[in-house]
Amino acid sequence: MTSVGLPSFANDRLDEFIQKAKDFAFTHGLVRPIKDDVINKSVVTHNSFMLAPSPIPRHLFEKLKEAQLDFNKLMYLVSQDYDFICNVLKSVVKYDEFTRNLLKIYHKVHQKETKDRGTLDIIRCDYMLDSNEQKFKQIEINTIAVGMAAGAARMPLLHRYTLRLAGMYKEANQVPDNPSLEGIATSLVRAWEVYGQPNASVLLVTEPADLARINHRHIEFSIHEINPRIPFMKMSLGDIGMRADLTDDQQLRIDGCEIAVVYYRTGYKPEFYKTKVEWKGRLLAEQSCAIKCPSIGGHLAGTKTVQQAISEPGVIEKYIDDPEAVVRIRNTFCRLYSLNPGPKGDHAADLGIENPEMFVLKPNREGGGNNLFGKDIKEKLIELKGSPERATFILMERVEPVKINGYSVKPLEPVTLREMTYELGIYGATICNSNGIIHSLQIGHLLRTKPADENEASLSAGTAVNDSPFLVS
Ligand code: ADP
Ligand code: MG
Repeated sequence: MTSVGLPSFANDRLDEFIQKAKDFAFTHGLVRPIKDDVINKSVVTHNSFMLAPSPIPRHLFEKLKEAQLDFNKLMYLVSQDYDFICNVLKSVVKYDEFTRNLLKIYHKVHQKETKDRGTLDIIRCDYMLDSNEQKFKQIEINTIAVGMAAGAARMPLLHRYTLRLAGMYKEANQVPDNPSLEGIATSLVRAWEVYGQPNASVLLVTEPADLARINHRHIEFSIHEINPRIPFMKMSLGDIGMRADLTDDQQLRIDGCEIAVVYYRTGYKPEFYKTKVEWKGRLLAEQSCAIKCPSIGGHLAGTKTVQQAISEPGVIEKYIDDPEAVVRIRNTFCRLYSLNPGPKGDHAADLGIENPEMFVLKPNREGGGNNLFGKDIKEKLIELKGSPERATFILMERVEPVKINGYSVKPLEPVTLREMTYELGIYGATICNSNGIIHSLQIGHLLRTKPADENEASLSAGTAVNDSPFLVS
């Protein structure tokens, strides 16, 4: 497939189009802080982006959006299934200290008497369009700190603008709106209402350096637009550890202020817990009756090993009664293999050693840059032969995604036509109270596009750039 509008873009006005697109990005808040400017916080650059949107078959896009409500329900029910999560992660936690520490919190929370006032899950299911089967296959389900919604929400505006610049006025309508930012802000406000205490605050938990500051502000300002009276706070896990306490009835209080919703935009990597104070902060929040996004159960439900366990025969059916919904969910799954000790795990490891190019080897880590590909898979699996530590990884079928040609625009880099592949994420939000699910929505999408020869698509590491779908029949 070719990226939309390339015949019109590949002309002598390309440089002018690129400059205008960059300026459009600046004037519409598609910007990020410069890493070195942590003190003054005055300098920004534009987000990296594709000059034109990427073609996606409309019926496949709609199908994923429909399946999102099924995934919302599935992941909520898994997050509440203490026995399932503990059982699945048993073989991982022996060798993985980070997951062990998270599970310890889960055990403590499971024993507490005061129930949370509700739950909020904001998740994102990521997919690649498989070039052989011409269908979207799921890469992972993110259940904590799902980001990039603010940029994604503005990309349709940028792409409609560049298409019109190229004279493609009618085609500009084929770029769908994206309610991702609004959807996240609305869900946080709904959760705050469910908590039911007008003076209580929404707390966004972030890293101390907060390089995603502008993304977080987009969310804060959107909440402010919906209801300016909601007190909004932002602090690190360490700050919570030092400044928070719990009242007798398990309210979370920080500097005397009650917290209604704890919204994690950190907490998913071992590096985010430098000392015991960060762990103390996480535990205090989890032990409180505040609504966490996500709860510790929701966080653990998003680990790679749980993802693999959900794909085992009969597991989706434990949670979802509707047979059509079960099919919608299972249809997106890649083949996933456990590497637990035993003949099945040994067989999976042999598959990976024999044909490493056909797989991805994944540890239980989030945030990009952790997976192994190609010959590294073979080496790792040979090194782990006979060791129970092998269970800290899962093996996954490698998707060979559809390739497109397009221009990716990055700050200070020359723009060239390249072969690219994309990854589509669908956001979902679920709120529950004691009556069960009271709010379940599909809230927009994220399209990230990377050079075809890169293994991982990461916006933060700079391999991938922002994109948006151009829906084709
Ligand atoms: P993380 O939690 O680090 O984001 P992911 O499972 O999303 O982990 O993997 C990171 C990246 O690796 C993905 O964005 C994708 O580009 C690539 N990747 C992961 N799984 C596969 C797969 N099965 N086939 C092809 N590429 C994959
Ligand atoms: Mg990912």
